[in-house]
Amino acid sequence: MPPLALLYRHPLLRALTLTLTCLLAACSRGDDPVYRDQFFAFGTLIDLSFYDVETARAEQASQALEQAFTQMHTDWHAWQPGALQQVNARLAEQGQATGDPAIAALIQEANRLSLLSNGLFNPVIGRLVALWGFHSDEPPQGPPPAGERIRQLVEQAPTSADVHVDGLQISGHNPAVRYDLGAFAKGYAIDRGIQQLRELGITNAIINAGGDLRGIGRHGERPWRIGIRDPRKPGVLAAVELAADESVFTSGDYERFYEYEGQRYHHIIDPRSGYPASATVSATVIHPLAATADAAATALFVAGPDDWPAIARQLGVGYVMLVDREGRIHMNPAMKARLVFESEPDTIVMSDAL
Ligand code: AMP
Ligand code: MG
Repeated sequence: MPPLALLYRHPLLRALTLTLTCLLAACSRGDDPVYRDQFFAFGTLIDLSFYDVETARAEQASQALEQAFTQMHTDWHAWQPGALQQVNARLAEQGQATGDPAIAALIQEANRLSLLSNGLFNPVIGRLVALWGFHSDEPPQGPPPAGERIRQLVEQAPTSADVHVDGLQISGHNPAVRYDLGAFAKGYAIDRGIQQLRELGITNAIINAGGDLRGIGRHGERPWRIGIRDPRKPGVLAAVELAADESVFTSGDYERFYEYEGQRYHHIIDPRSGYPASATVSATVIHPLAATADAAATALFVAGPDDWPAIARQLGVGYVMLVDREGRIHMNPAMKARLVFESEPDTIVMSDAL
């Protein structure tokens, strides 16, 4: 955390800091109208905030969400036994699989977004992700994989266009296809979680999965306010107020990585080269749907400082901030108008192409 005094300069950041402090101190409800709870799923802490919901209903909703997230995590896991692993095995062995309705819909939406991203968000490169050692709860140890093995997998070029979903039937036309929905499933799960909350009558809430979140409604008289993590130091890079129903997702090279001989190898792979995408440090997207924001943050991270506006347009994303490896901040004007930076960035590169 930067010194609190710094954060207190701006009212928005001040409120945010108070929220963080309150969370860190596990503050009791007292007169705080926000019910908070958390549980572990998708490899991260899921933080729930409900505004002005009576405790019994909030607890019931929280339990229902924990159950749903635990199930989705198991079903859609990239490398542990579950429904997705079965789909992967059938596609590899027989070129076709029968999914359950949830997984068929999940795969279909992942494929749609992948095509819109020109395959930069590529949910079928599971073998590459595994080769880099990221199919493990522990960070991998160096050295990186042999170039020859990476090249072989890249040449097999599995893409979403190789998979066709018809009802529950999933057919694959490339034996190298392996679904890894690590860049997408969390967002998709959050959208389902928000739907569940609405069905339970909760209309002012945030579901926050390790900084990636969707907020609905408001924090009473004011909008929900959230912080975007600084990719290179502890604390907040910028704060933003959410519209009544909005998601904020960030893909960063700091989330899962290892270092070998002074080089950082992180978990976001450029499907074209087979290597971690190296021009970007973090990519943040604001969009109504969490699933789209999640896929887009990954895609724009891979697209990098030159190509992100074109891919964002194709994905229908209107707010983007990207930090490149030189620390420059790339944004479109609509995004800049919404962000309150903790300290004025050295270099901002504005894109009028979005
Ligand atoms: P995210 O943090 O949402 O950007 O997701 C990163 C995770 O998605 C990685 O840990 C991999 O499991 C997987 N992944 C890595 N590179 C890609 C890519 N280019 N497209 C789709 N998924 C990817
Ligand atoms: Mg993502």
